[in-house]
Amino acid sequence: MPKIYIIDVTNRDGVQTAKLGLSKLEKTMMNVYLNEMGVFQSEFGFPTTRHESNYLKANLELAEMGALKPIRLEGWIRAIVADVETAFRLVPNMKHLNLSVSTSDQMINGKFQGRKTRDDIIKEMTKAVDAAWAHGAESIGVNAEDASRTDIGYLVEFGQAAKEHGANRLRYCDTLGYDNPFTIYEANRTLAEKVALPIEQHCHGDLGMAVATSIAGAKGAIDGGQDAYINTTVNGIGERAGNADLVATILAITKSKGFNDNYKLGGSVDLSMAWKIAKFASYAFGVPIPINQPGVGDNAFAHESGIHADGVLKDPENYELYSYEELGRGGAELVETGREICAGEYSGISGFSHIMGQMSVSFADREEANRVLELVRYANVEAQKPLNEDELLFIAKYPDIVKKLLTLAPLT
Ligand SMILES: [Zn+2]
Repeated sequence: MPKIYIIDVTNRDGVQTAKLGLSKLEKTMMNVYLNEMGVFQSEFGFPTTRHESNYLKANLELAEMGALKPIRLEGWIRAIVADVETAFRLVPNMKHLNLSVSTSDQMINGKFQGRKTRDDIIKEMTKAVDAAWAHGAESIGVNAEDASRTDIGYLVEFGQAAKEHGANRLRYCDTLGYDNPFTIYEANRTLAEKVALPIEQHCHGDLGMAVATSIAGAKGAIDGGQDAYINTTVNGIGERAGNADLVATILAITKSKGFNDNYKLGGSVDLSMAWKIAKFASYAFGVPIPINQPGVGDNAFAHESGIHADGVLKDPENYELYSYEELGRGGAELVETGREICAGEYSGISGFSHIMGQMSVSFADREEANRVLELVRYANVEAQKPLNEDELLFIAKYPDIVKKLLTLAPLT
């Protein structure tokens, strides 16, 4: 039976969201947490964007060292030969790519203004796929942007052309969140049957249905005989109303009525990372988790009214579909209420050694401590907020990698 895999796109769709962003160290930590959680693939950035190059190369190095394994790191580019060439020039070790192009008449006419036809789109996409293979890509997904407003016959033709050129997956992008669960089911089933490639569901929340359309699309792909790959972001952060939330999507697949009987997650996703990754994303993006967020919101396990409180005390299953322990919640959180020494871009060695000592990190000598402190200062220049414990530990453990990912060299 085909399965459902998660491709998280926080480090691509999440960071391209208006008014929001992550530092290169935060993006790296996101990959680390996604890997710990057992997520299949992280769309970790933009290989044609120069300020991403060092971060992307440093993360690929982490993967080669086995520190970011088994997660796949995949870059997002446009489905044109020029982007493929730039991507491999800037990031030669790139192994996994998604190539994206608009497929709806609305976007072909509206964006390219008569300069491109449907046929041109397919020709350029297949040339880009060929070029990516020639440069050594190991897996390629092809993205149909605005698939939900694309004529299904043309979409099948587009997918078949991608398949003929060896693409591994077709991404069905509900770019505007236009689909409902019924329409996306039909479209994904048709594509799975007629294109015979695994289908990715990339859904947005403009109509409040991103998670629902994602699992309905996945069901369509599986009923059509193919694996499904749902695109998520942590806390649903993404363009406009956002993407399918990672935690809510996993909950919907595993806990909703009867779904898990026939449609299962592939690999081994560890839901107990949910709390940690959601809190990190909230802190890193500077966006609070809504109080009513599924699973990780403040109120997700709060009960006040008499009937509910009485019921949940007698048996939690009276009013809870799943337990907070499953999501990694329930532990004590320490908040300093007295004196606090922080590490920042202007920190000195004494305060820094005190902080690291509290985490039982000791340095071989003062030179090593100074070297790590220097990296912490630079990381703070980018983040403009105190680093969390995991970030400090990561810098102490992988100083050479951190030096690379913090290196920005504009106009060189
Ligand atoms: Zn998107």
